Amino acid sequence: MTAELTRRNCLPGGLLTAVSVPGAGHLVIDRGQGAHIWDTAGHQYLDLLMGSGAVLLGHAHPEIVAAIEAQARQGATFYALTEPALALAARIVGHYPGAEMLQYCSTGSEATLFALRLARAATGRDKVLKFEGGFHGSNDYAMMSAYPAGPASYPDPEPSSQGIPAGAAGTVLVAPYNDSLRCEQIAREASQQLAAIIVEPFQRNIDLQSGFLAGLRRLADATGACLIFDEVVTGFRLGLAGAAGYCGVVPDIATVGKAIGGGLPLAAIVGRADIMQLSAPGRSLADGFVYCSGTLSGNPLAAAAGLAAMDILERPGTFECLFRLGEAMRSQLAQAFTDHGIPAQALGIGPSFQINPSTEPITDYRSAARSDLALMARVAAELVAAGIYFTGAKGYLSLAHSQPDIDEVVARTAEVLNVLDRPRPA
Ligand code: PMP
Repeated sequence: MTAELTRRNCLPGGLLTAVSVPGAGHLVIDRGQGAHIWDTAGHQYLDLLMGSGAVLLGHAHPEIVAAIEAQARQGATFYALTEPALALAARIVGHYPGAEMLQYCSTGSEATLFALRLARAATGRDKVLKFEGGFHGSNDYAMMSAYPAGPASYPDPEPSSQGIPAGAAGTVLVAPYNDSLRCEQIAREASQQLAAIIVEPFQRNIDLQSGFLAGLRRLADATGACLIFDEVVTGFRLGLAGAAGYCGVVPDIATVGKAIGGGLPLAAIVGRADIMQLSAPGRSLADGFVYCSGTLSGNPLAAAAGLAAMDILERPGTFECLFRLGEAMRSQLAQAFTDHGIPAQALGIGPSFQINPSTEPITDYRSAARSDLALMARVAAELVAAGIYFTGAKGYLSLAHSQPDIDEVVARTAEVLNVLDRPRPA
């Protein structure tokens, strides 16, 4: 079977992932180097997706490749402790605010599932509060109101997938992001049952209103719920201390992923020792045992890649460089839209960026969804044709990107906006 037939016959929808680059989901990627990728037809693209943010230091970074090669020669996995897994655990726990212990897993979806389970066990309560439009992965609780299509009905969730039992949905409360008052009201109504408040700081690139996270901290303390920061994206991307360090608010539990594995499958839950201890293998159910284990959890190949990545992240200047690139991309790209007469807002922080054509303040899922996302999808499809690999939504930069790359994206975007203005040939 040719690759194209395999794609169409074997993969549902012919695609690998739920979100793909417009018009490019069918591309078969051959290789990546630095900030570029090549498809099997030999086309080169400047990558603005970077493995959905997992490749923060650039594709095939020589130090990470060397670490993976060395570990591969020692064996790929053992379902047992290894030195890379131990060393990386110490580094993550050492850097993340309030982290006393760590439990490894392989994906962000597992990390948020285990974090919620730990919070439920720690509090003896069932309900969790999440924010509308907050994406915490594929587990049943995370899939509540991840991208709702119907009208808002806080605190009732709208499942973003079929196949989720009503019982699971019934344990999730939903509030609008950045709305401290509404959130407090919902949390207090459920207070005796509330196990956790889970939030992605800078949810999907939306600006964080000042005091919102600190308010959640106070609310969690007042209701006895655990505060969970989902830092799968922001952890080790906004700095070694993640969004917690950036904002000066310490959660009880946090999930980290993407950047910590140097591009390999690795994620973790970190948090207060009294909570994390519940997952100690060998603990009895009567003593509160929470199952958080997995075949590949703390996999040595991924941990070795993560350690090599950590060496680079810890070097002076790394985050300054990432932030400088992000700021340049956000301001220059938004300017390209406004120069073209399209009011657009630059969202994102650090090396993440997003352009939302909109004239209203973007503070939550609903206001973000009212942006001209269809225009961005058209722009992205044209950019792909011009050799820039971009979803039109969340963009990720890496240490391998440079100012000339940003200038190229901005110049191509200006050209694309001109092309889109022209009437289509009949
Ligand atoms: N949380 C956040 C904030 C995410 O952005 C994602 C994935 N993009 C996840 C959790 C889930 O991670 P994974 O895809 O590794 O399961």
